Amino acid sequence: MVEVQHPTSVEQAVAALAEGGLALAGGTDLMVEVNFGQARPENVVALRRIGELADWGPNRIGAGVTWSRLEREAPTALAQAARTVGSPQIRNAGTLGGNVGTASPAGDGLPFLAAVDASIELASPGGVRTVPWHEFFVGVKKTARLAGELITAIHLPEAMPERQAFGKIGARNAMVIATVCCVVTRDDADVTRVGLGSVAPTPMRARHAEEMISSIARPSASDRVEFARLVSEEVRPITDHRSTEEYRRHAAGVLARRLLDRCLR
Ligand SMILES: Cc1cc2nc3c(=O)[nH]c(=O)nc-3n(C[C@H](O)[C@H](O)[C@H](O)COP(=O)(O)OP(=O)(O)OC[C@H]3O[C@@H](n4cnc5c(N)ncnc54)[C@H](O)[C@@H]3O)c2cc1C
Repeated sequence: MVEVQHPTSVEQAVAALAEGGLALAGGTDLMVEVNFGQARPENVVALRRIGELADWGPNRIGAGVTWSRLEREAPTALAQAARTVGSPQIRNAGTLGGNVGTASPAGDGLPFLAAVDASIELASPGGVRTVPWHEFFVGVKKTARLAGELITAIHLPEAMPERQAFGKIGARNAMVIATVCCVVTRDDADVTRVGLGSVAPTPMRARHAEEMISSIARPSASDRVEFARLVSEEVRPITDHRSTEEYRRHAAGVLARRLLDRCLR
């Protein structure tokens, strides 16, 4: 028998999770696991009635904000990512917090978090802590979240580059899990950031490529080719049922270069 609790505040949810409950937000990842017999939770803590998890401040997006809302209100590249997630039904139910909680290498929200150096806010009976993205994602579907901690929000930096773009390559144009996904941002001082997904166990940054292209105010065609080469060199993809290591490596460079082109215009 599954026990389902419906807390209406973060405080209640934290208490329920501390007793061994498993968080359920939109259920678009968790219920797939349940349906395939990969998860058999006995104590579920449903988060949908907690209004404060959908709070959205200037630099803080509540974990319970859905993809549908992100499509309309998020910074450019995150909104673009949101538009590629699943179908309207999935986007109405699925949340940014759930994407972070699952920590799939292919999570479409995660390259943005990497590119802008976001942090993850976690609440427990002991208080609230904030973990930078690169310390939070530690492996394939593995995070630094401790048992019982509730993901309450994503923190974004105060200043974010206006020029930013998300792109995703997959086997189809819609309803597809990424073979490669990427966010490129470039600010007015030419500082360029490249966040990537599906090409390593965790979301990652292509830091050599960033360093090279950030030092060039007006990259030439050959600079952009070199940028793509560095991205392809830095990623750490695997071959699996969705793609090969070689294709992912090549596609990551091409995608990052195309997104850079969008940020240069
Ligand atoms: C048909 C289909 C298509 C999809 N397409 C895409 C896609 O294109 N791109 C993509 O990135 N994903 C896709 N997904 C996966 C999924 O929709 C997303 O990862 C979504 O963001 C998950 O959010 P959720 O609220 O449904 O999470 P849930 O399923 O409710 O939870 C996911 C995990 O996170 C934990 N969790 C959730 N919220 C919290 C919290 N606040 N604190 C602590 N732990 C928490 C849960 O315990 C669970 O382990 C798809 C899924 C389906 C079924």
